[in-house]
Amino acid sequence: MHRRTLAQLADDLRSRRCSSYELTTHFLARIERHDPSMNAFVTVTADHALADARAADERRSRGDAGPLDGLPLAHKDIFCTEGVKTSCGSRMLDNFLSPYDATLVARLKDAGTVMLGKTNMDEFAMGSSSESSFYGPVRNPWDLERVPGGSSGGSAAAVAAGLVPAATGTDTGGSIRQPAALCGLTGLKPTYGRVSRYGMIAFASSLDQAGVLTWTAEDAALLLQVMAGFDPRDSTCLEEPVPDYRAGLNASIRGLRIGVPAGFFDAGLEEGNRGAVETALGVLESQGAELVGIELDNLDLSVPVYYVVAPAEASSNLSRFDGVRFGHRTEHAEDLLNLYTRTRGEGFGAEVKRRILTGAYVLSAGYYDAYYLKAQQVRQLISQSFSRAFESVDVIAGPTTPTPAFMLGQKTNDPVAMYLNDIYTIGANLAGLPALSIPCGAVGGLPVGLQLIGPHLAEGVLLNVAHRFQAETDWHQRRPPDFDAENA
Ligand code: GLN
Repeated sequence: MHRRTLAQLADDLRSRRCSSYELTTHFLARIERHDPSMNAFVTVTADHALADARAADERRSRGDAGPLDGLPLAHKDIFCTEGVKTSCGSRMLDNFLSPYDATLVARLKDAGTVMLGKTNMDEFAMGSSSESSFYGPVRNPWDLERVPGGSSGGSAAAVAAGLVPAATGTDTGGSIRQPAALCGLTGLKPTYGRVSRYGMIAFASSLDQAGVLTWTAEDAALLLQVMAGFDPRDSTCLEEPVPDYRAGLNASIRGLRIGVPAGFFDAGLEEGNRGAVETALGVLESQGAELVGIELDNLDLSVPVYYVVAPAEASSNLSRFDGVRFGHRTEHAEDLLNLYTRTRGEGFGAEVKRRILTGAYVLSAGYYDAYYLKAQQVRQLISQSFSRAFESVDVIAGPTTPTPAFMLGQKTNDPVAMYLNDIYTIGANLAGLPALSIPCGAVGGLPVGLQLIGPHLAEGVLLNVAHRFQAETDWHQRRPPDFDAENA
């Protein structure tokens, strides 16, 4: 069962080959057996899940089950879930029970999906390796000594190891695509505003976007169908109709123009990754797509711009964690100011503090013009480079990451080396563009991702190209050997 995609499991449920209760029991047993070796879950909601699965089975026997009814999934622990701990990977929220569901959680619940639990992540989604979590690092099921990527590393590890068939994630600078690439999955970050951010704990509000980690583009399409669409509770959520994503998956890509930015194949890209990505581009070309060399001006500035804008927004967003209203509160306060400082000192980890300090600095009166304002201006230029490119190409393709999964601890003492992991993914966030990563090869037994970036609201095109690629290749069917066997 754990080798089947979400679409296949939906068929199994429809044709009564299995019940939601059986599926849920199967995956819960796998979590119990395998999660201790990878630490992908912060919370497992077994009782809730079994009750929800029974309710889904009852709806099906009454004949009123929707297309996703009864399918198990997991949510990144950044999404508020009513009555279930929502930690955001932080000591600050270790005791936080959300009083409401995030819109995305509510929509997937209304569609009948069964939440198995909440997945581990970098603290407040700040990181590229899932090592900054208060709950300890997540391990990559392809090699337990390596990182799964981050910040949605728990979701990626859980899906890759077959502990759950799909999971949600968030992507502020690459946090869905990078772990998808490092774990051999399909990871979709939609257009900024395509999916509601209501109830998704804010990191950098102008960059954050929710999406999914799945085995296939088809599975991503199934989930996006339910998640996308206007939400009056998020003022940045787009009031645009939601197309039928699944209907467009098989369209021919003959004549599709794929822009290949020279800057994505620079010195930082490891040879093995370059080879895999170039071979993948060849597959798309053989299906009739046309590869066009392009330049994206100022793309080399995307990491520095991001590390001004994202911390600035984070420093403001995280000011709400003060020990007064919710979350951690110090037991040793002498006065009110001391309550704030001690609470924050105890509740936040090192990376979060580093971001708050940087963010407060670039926003401070003397430095605002030199850093924050300048970064906003360069962000505009980067956005314009993408718009110009999309005048002559339909999608942009390149690597998702410069290297395959790195070793645990390898970059924890060097934040800048960690930040450079997102060199190919951050541009899409700065410009608000949809982007996805699909497995396209392997280096030394570790998965490599191909990234596709589209113009605003072109999720359908990206999923179509990804699906056609997956019809020709089997990289998305490879599973981490140690977790693959039917009885594993
Ligand atoms: N790795 C990037 C960071 O540390 C992006 C994280 C994300 O997308 N949430 O900020």
